[in-house]
Amino acid sequence: MPEEQKYVYGPVPSRRLGRSLGIDIVPFKVCTLDCVYCQLGRITRKTIERSDYVPIEPVLAELTQRLADGVDADFITIGGSGEPTLNSHLGKLVKAIKEITNIPVAILTNGTLLYRQDVRADCAKAEVVLPSLDAGDAQTFGKINRPHRDISIEKLASGLCAFREEFTGQIWLEVFVVEGLNTDIDQITKIKGLIERIRPDKIHLNTAVRPTADAHVRKVKAEKLQVIAGHLGTSCEVVADFSVRPQTRHFKTTAEDLLSMLKRRPCSLKDVCAALGIGRNEAIKYITYLQRRGLIDSDEKNQTLFFKAN
Ligand code: SF4
Repeated sequence: MPEEQKYVYGPVPSRRLGRSLGIDIVPFKVCTLDCVYCQLGRITRKTIERSDYVPIEPVLAELTQRLADGVDADFITIGGSGEPTLNSHLGKLVKAIKEITNIPVAILTNGTLLYRQDVRADCAKAEVVLPSLDAGDAQTFGKINRPHRDISIEKLASGLCAFREEFTGQIWLEVFVVEGLNTDIDQITKIKGLIERIRPDKIHLNTAVRPTADAHVRKVKAEKLQVIAGHLGTSCEVVADFSVRPQTRHFKTTAEDLLSMLKRRPCSLKDVCAALGIGRNEAIKYITYLQRRGLIDSDEKNQTLFFKAN
């Protein structure tokens, strides 16, 4: 069996970050939000508690090995299958990464914990932080991001503003739009009002071109995205990749392989990665695809999620 890659994946091509070498430091689907457009499916553990979910030593060991093998990337990106700022070792990890490589560090976060000074201090160690803002008011925030009960839109916006005051690196804010949920002019104007307070360096506009947690989520058409980008200002760039065609022959063949494997025995995410020789994010894409078609289900046993064919 090939040596399993547990925490480091890629590099994957990213519209926002070029060649991005990913690091995953929270368990699958642990997040402060439960966004309708999440590619991981429904979040299984919604929490705002920071914890030592993943120790940094094995993460650093794996990264060191990948770098020694000659892997190259434009960014080392901390993100993955949940909200990375929930890991209380985040700051230590970024500091340690900087001691072993000059590749800049980016953090993909939903930004909801930036109201905390310790989270801001951890994130400030990176070169680029990529938070999200998808709503301009509480009602829309509730509908699209389905936050933990202790997270409000004002808490999110104030945290982002406080971070802007302290952070000298780049903030690239993502706005994810879902047709009919946050696309009317009133909502876009409110989002723009918050962006003017936050003052990010760039705005990345995205929409649901990939499978999402909720089946009713509709992508915004390319022309309309350009109109919304125009409203949000000159620093706004459309990053949605309309060339994504998940149902390619290769995708379907791999999904069928996974399904036949799950018909024989339930597998954890780690099992799927090892069996198919792919990283966590790649495996999650196939699992989400099969789940959305009702072909597989999951059960938790001994704190591990197992997938099985229906
Ligand atoms: S899209 Fe990101 S922030 Fe939203 S639920 Fe999924 S992991 Fe959490």
